Amino acid sequence: MTYWLSIVVATPAHSSVAGALTYASEWPLAPGTLVRVPLGRREVLGVVWEVLPDSGDLLPAQARAVLGALDGLAPLSATWRRLVAFTASYYQRSIGEVALAALPPQLRALSTVQLARRLKRPVAAAPDTPDTTDLIALSPEQERAIAEFDADTRPALLFGATGSGKTEVYLRAAASVLAQDASAQVLVMVPEINLTPQLQARFEERFAHLGKAQVVALHSGLTPAQRLKSWLAAHAGQARLVLGTRMAIFASLPNLRLIVVDEEHDPSYKQQEGARYSARDLAVYRAMLESSTNSSSSIAAPSFSAGAAEPAPPGRRRSAPPGGSEPHEVGSVGAMSCRVLLGSATPSLESWQATVAGRYQRLTMSERIGAADLHGSLPTVRLVDMNHQPKHCTIAPPLLDAIAQRIARGEQSLIFLNRRGYAPVLACHDCGWKSECPHCSAFRVFHKMDRTLRCHHCGFTERVPRACPGCGNIDIAPLGKGTERLEEHIAELLVGVTRPDGSPLHNSVRIARIDADTTRLKGALESQLASVHAREVDVLVGTQMIAKGHDFRHITLVAAINPDGALFSSDFRAPERLFGLLMQAAGRAGRDAERGEASEMWVQTFHPQHPLFGALKKHDYPAFAAQELKEREAAGMSPFGFSALVRAEAREQAVAQGFLNAAAETAQAQQLPGAEAVTPYPAVPMTIQRVANIERAQMLVESSSRAALQRFLAAWQPLLHQTRQEGDFKGLIRWAIDVDPLAI
Ligand code: ADP
Ligand code: ZN
Ligand code: ZN
Repeated sequence: MTYWLSIVVATPAHSSVAGALTYASEWPLAPGTLVRVPLGRREVLGVVWEVLPDSGDLLPAQARAVLGALDGLAPLSATWRRLVAFTASYYQRSIGEVALAALPPQLRALSTVQLARRLKRPVAAAPDTPDTTDLIALSPEQERAIAEFDADTRPALLFGATGSGKTEVYLRAAASVLAQDASAQVLVMVPEINLTPQLQARFEERFAHLGKAQVVALHSGLTPAQRLKSWLAAHAGQARLVLGTRMAIFASLPNLRLIVVDEEHDPSYKQQEGARYSARDLAVYRAMLESSTNSSSSIAAPSFSAGAAEPAPPGRRRSAPPGGSEPHEVGSVGAMSCRVLLGSATPSLESWQATVAGRYQRLTMSERIGAADLHGSLPTVRLVDMNHQPKHCTIAPPLLDAIAQRIARGEQSLIFLNRRGYAPVLACHDCGWKSECPHCSAFRVFHKMDRTLRCHHCGFTERVPRACPGCGNIDIAPLGKGTERLEEHIAELLVGVTRPDGSPLHNSVRIARIDADTTRLKGALESQLASVHAREVDVLVGTQMIAKGHDFRHITLVAAINPDGALFSSDFRAPERLFGLLMQAAGRAGRDAERGEASEMWVQTFHPQHPLFGALKKHDYPAFAAQELKEREAAGMSPFGFSALVRAEAREQAVAQGFLNAAAETAQAQQLPGAEAVTPYPAVPMTIQRVANIERAQMLVESSSRAALQRFLAAWQPLLHQTRQEGDFKGLIRWAIDVDPLAI
């Protein structure tokens, strides 16, 4: 007997084989089974998607045979397949591409024999006896957050100030899920694993009683073998707690009961190539899927049968009655549901608005642990009006004084500037030559350390020329400041400062710099952080990298040198990111400073009256959010409007734009589904128009209806393919759709 199977393989959305392929098998194979199949002349990994009814001659007679199944492996669950299908449909890619990218690369390379051997390894028996002897007592806010979380079923947003103890809430929520059910699994997502070693350590320590095999990590920093091992442990149900970055949202977790998304506002949750998914949004969607599959009958599982309906947007329960009551009537409380817990001190405005609308539950923790005694209170924000400071000064005199005082007292300061390198551009004052990148529409940055000019977009690096390439003038000079020059400049400014015992600093203050340049080598970041913690550093200079996730106990002053650019950026999310960054940076200061005085956050600005800074002074995220959301609502921007970007790359700008405009015109002419509610704007060059000699253009497509936008994109995608094939777009290299783009 022959069985006909629809099998997905790794095909990019843009290939001609966009969907699943039909194969024949002599034996029955369940959907979700991993198989090896022939594709062209290659043998590739595939996933059985559907068993096709035997419809005789309707099936391609030339269907090739499945070569083998990875039978040691249980099939991927229906929920996993739904998640993949949703992602493919929502982000306009092929199922095969999403499905195969979600599997560890080694799985694709392994022979069935090797795999069977791996799977036969004995599973360590787990005693499910957590050691609760030295658990810390929860703060009243933590108690309340946990109680509220337990009493609801909606997606929850833990809005907790930096230092309010969010991690403890995640740990307790995870522990309670794991204790309830001996097979339950928890997924904890973090933005970037190397920036959160403290978080990882805390999870490993708390769940040490589960045994090493049951707490695993999944991120791109692992070796392929480690990643396969973690993946298999999760798939087999053996790993109880998976800690991972955005890719972990696709881990196969047969008994998933809780997803935690730490720092949910972080842009790194959005994948920037291939299927440009938001792991944060998918976490909310996945929790809903897992609940609906697990609960008895009350929920109709979302289906993806072709064309039935557009996929439900992430963050919205499809089964909620239209315009009707809130979704927590729908879920099922109890062991079989899966909850999602997002956490942030400065949530994304999308998640915040969802709590305003009642779709998400909001849990608030506004006080730092130990705030009762002054040591734990939030830093005082001081705005320095740069209009009243000496012209062209990098560090205003009052700020410099404050830093010098800290050094004299043996305290640390953190100064951040979001631009690495020595100077953003090198220039000749005689002829006007500037260090432009020959391959990009951007300047190359001057790095003094190795005397190079480096392009931060294409990587093109050259030695600094001895003289101006334009006129031969040997007096070429840096313009503006990056972290490297700031480090040098501060050292000069601080010469002569003395230590608490009155001894001079031998004309050198201990300054360290942390940015992408100084942390390139493995272990460099860790050792630099360690020297900050060991108080071997007086002043720490760095990019936003240092504002994330680190707990600096002896830093009592944080300063932002030049944050104004974000106030007037063309990117509408820039103020949101700036506010988050400043709040986070402020949160780094003296979490348990020994002195009784509150620490300080200094901000140098030419616009001290800007409402963003007003909210910052009061540490008032809700005020900032309310103001920003009002503006976005008026402008129809996210979360009140929905958008997608189509980007095109070509040898010439005109070709990239021409392609996009032609595709949009055809869409209008053919009145595609959804087109009446969708506005495509004319194609424009991207902000960095040329990178590595490739011209880049983009077209913004907006709608006030997510559903209409989805309908439109689904119909437009084949048209874009067709436009490329039939049109005369020589030199067009590629195009891609980015749904819910982060930067416009
Ligand atoms: P957040 O993630 O909200 O910034 P953390 O979870 O890192 O905050 O907690 C801040 C500090 O407070 C950590 O050092 C943590 O160990 C400590 N902490 C958390 N909860 C408690 C508690 N209930 N009692 C005492 N210390 C706590
Ligand atoms: Zn010159
Ligand atoms: Zn370049």
